[in-house]
Amino acid sequence: MDSQIAFKGWLLDASTYSEGVILWVKTEEERKVIRIFQEFSPEFFAVPKDDVGNDFKRMQYILAQNQNVKKVRICEKYVRLEDYEKSRALGVTVEKPSLFKKTIKEVNEIGLFTLYNTDLPIAQMYFYVNDLFPMSFCQFKIKVEKGNAKKANFLRLVSIDLQDDNEELFYDLPPLRAVWLDVKIQYQGIKPYYNDPISYAEVSIVENDEDNIPRADGYKKRRIRIDNTNEADILKTISKVIDRLNPDIILTQNGDEFLFPYLVARASENRVSKDLYLSRDKKPLAKCIFDLSGGSDHYMSYGIIRRRSRTQVYLTGRFHLDTTTYASLHFSEGNIPGVIEVARISRIPLQRLSRVTIGGALQSIQFYNAYKLDHLIPPFKKSPEGFNTGMDLIRSDRGGHIFEPIIGVFDQVVELDFSSMYPSLMATFNVSSETVNCKCCKDDGTGIKVPGLDFHICTKRQGIISKSISLPLKKRLKYKEYVRETGSVRYNFTDIALKWVLVVSFGYLGFKNARFGKIEAHQTVCAFAREFLMRSAEIAEERGCKIIHGIVDSIWLKDTKDRTPEEFEEVTKEVANEITKSVGIPMSWDGRYNVIVFLPSRAEPDIPALSHYWGIKNNGEVKVRGIEVRRRDVPKIVKDAQYAFIDIFQGATTTEEFMRRMPKAKKMLYHYIDKIETGKISREELTIRQRVSRKPSQYKVNSYQAVAAKQLERSGVVVTPGKNVRYIILNADADPDFPEKKVILSNHYDEKKHQYDKKKYVELLKRAFENIFPFEFPELEEMIKSDVMRKSNQKDLISFLENIN
Ligand SMILES: [Zn+2]
Repeated sequence: MDSQIAFKGWLLDASTYSEGVILWVKTEEERKVIRIFQEFSPEFFAVPKDDVGNDFKRMQYILAQNQNVKKVRICEKYVRLEDYEKSRALGVTVEKPSLFKKTIKEVNEIGLFTLYNTDLPIAQMYFYVNDLFPMSFCQFKIKVEKGNAKKANFLRLVSIDLQDDNEELFYDLPPLRAVWLDVKIQYQGIKPYYNDPISYAEVSIVENDEDNIPRADGYKKRRIRIDNTNEADILKTISKVIDRLNPDIILTQNGDEFLFPYLVARASENRVSKDLYLSRDKKPLAKCIFDLSGGSDHYMSYGIIRRRSRTQVYLTGRFHLDTTTYASLHFSEGNIPGVIEVARISRIPLQRLSRVTIGGALQSIQFYNAYKLDHLIPPFKKSPEGFNTGMDLIRSDRGGHIFEPIIGVFDQVVELDFSSMYPSLMATFNVSSETVNCKCCKDDGTGIKVPGLDFHICTKRQGIISKSISLPLKKRLKYKEYVRETGSVRYNFTDIALKWVLVVSFGYLGFKNARFGKIEAHQTVCAFAREFLMRSAEIAEERGCKIIHGIVDSIWLKDTKDRTPEEFEEVTKEVANEITKSVGIPMSWDGRYNVIVFLPSRAEPDIPALSHYWGIKNNGEVKVRGIEVRRRDVPKIVKDAQYAFIDIFQGATTTEEFMRRMPKAKKMLYHYIDKIETGKISREELTIRQRVSRKPSQYKVNSYQAVAAKQLERSGVVVTPGKNVRYIILNADADPDFPEKKVILSNHYDEKKHQYDKKKYVELLKRAFENIFPFEFPELEEMIKSDVMRKSNQKDLISFLENIN
């Protein structure tokens, strides 16, 4: 007999099966994960092409002829983004998910319709349509269809009632358990291959942090080593151990691209494919691998070429998080609370979210709002136009560079920042592609005027983009405040993840490839930003503050009235409040610098808007932008030295004191030069890490990067753009006929056998020194050549260091 049960729990994930969706639920009481089936019929929309005519009844009939179409409804939708009136469209419901793509293709082939909402992943569509989201707390009612000896019980959803809200700031996370899965392989050479056998496997349980959240960067509390002479037994035991530990999250390093495809290959070799499973429903791992080899294997994100794995491994009922993938997508390693927060607001299931760009998350929020506001979602069109990042757009627009930066050393400077200025402007002024220069407010004069441009913004409708940015913005500002007050680790992670969503939002506004992007919307935001910075400057000047530097959404103020640092601090705090009130966007007081150094942009002199500076706040905090210590491709020894140079100025409160300490900084430089000259710097300190920008054969000059990439390829690794290459410079001036002598791959470097290029590393060091001061150092060249002069100069460094601490 079938019976009905009601209970509460967390909706962890939704995956699809041929007839509908499977809801993976962790129950509140027993903390058990169960799967509930629900039939689901996805819907897309068809709009008759211009010359097709207006007989909707007839078109409804034509569409209904397709045997996979369950239902056709005539409805009212905004078809084009700029439409301010709805028009008729046909909603086509397809019997079941497995027929969705096929039916779309068939309807498209009729040639009468333009189709919309065709490429949303089914699970996301399910969440939009039902107003649900991953990791939400719900009340479930299910019907249990009793199985028999052969068939397990089948749980069918009767109803689901959301008892959660993704706008809520503080919420309970489902109790989660994570394990790391790692496999050691027996191989010779630099890299293992599929035909190398497993040595042993290791499953480590991750200890949850104080908020009861598993942390990928956290402590592995118990390691289970799966060691066996028989490889088939190792594979079977992996499945059994996972089954017994019953984790919700399986963390891997490179599971998508190597580890899991490798395990599948080993299982096949040993004829145990069916016995290797990690999913909760025991689906063989071989069936969890998705091959994306049709698509490009690299993409641009924020000016950096990133590599996309050709395979992705999605488990069912469990999350596979490949830390090499998700850590590169702005979720810093271990940021599980952040991924969960973004999954909740974007309605993208966790596993998929960890593999799409953060722009993909933002777009999903837009799609949800478009769906709710009755806008149709156009299909994705690939256009050759590259993606401009927000920063690129700001630079090209000159909008970020309003105050000519003054270069030099300053003391007692206060920094004021608009919190999330661009997203705030978008949300506050309803800036969205369809609201900028709308037709509905064009003639009646009700539109909001855009400063300095002959543009207006709609006052009658809420824009999709502005509405979509409001939620992450509102939450982020509150989390930031909360974290400042409490130091909460969990919500700090949440804040970091949301910050990234906001950062990309502005870039996407002007991005033509984004389905809701429009360049005028982007110009509108820049116009407001300029206007507000100018108004902020006026308010600051009225209170006797001089603006010495201003960029994008920050200004740096200096006192003109001889007030004490403490008085100046008070005044500038008032200025921040006044600006907040005047422009309606929160301006925050971001600290008082004892000393701050604004630098010319040596590396990129044509980009003035990119700020290069460093400073030490009166609380000792060091802030650095645009110099070596911030870059990944600088060897550790150089970064360490640069921090040491900066540390010399800790506690200096005036420019005079700063200048008095310059000789000490130089001595610190000599100290590091000597260190390099000894020849005893470790491999780790010397290694330079760079992302390969093209295929090794496509490099035209033998740069270090090119030579290292070629070496890597020769060692048997497939080198594609976006891959990291680590190398050490051996001889910068190597004979051009033997360029491979220039560098050596870091893991081939043997401290006993090889000697790094001292001269080159000293040069990098010297540049790192020069780059943090706005002065010229003509004497350095001589000093570097003569170690006798350096030695005599260094004697009192030790005593100095003792004195300042
Ligand atoms: Zn309007």
